[in-house]
Amino acid sequence: MELIKPKYRIRCETGVCKNFADSTIKHSRLGIGGALNICTECLKELFELLKKEFKAVKKEDMSKEVKEEEKVKAAKKEKNIK
Ligand SMILES: [Zn+2]
Repeated sequence: MELIKPKYRIRCETGVCKNFADSTIKHSRLGIGGALNICTECLKELFELLKKEFKAVKKEDMSKEVKEEEKVKAAKKEKNIK
């Protein structure tokens, strides 16, 4: 995916927004017709949303890793006892 500047004056396509798009999100496999034109405001909102989303994913991953570590530690302890 790439972020490019729109070639034409085009409205933000996120739905209710009435701003003009400042950026175009384009997937490399799609033509310009498959691109999303988005204004800076919506882009910022989207960015915040993604940050939150990725933070949540990271936390989940970390807790999984900790659990795995605990399992390994427990397994090691068991071995030491035997
Ligand atoms: Zn917008």
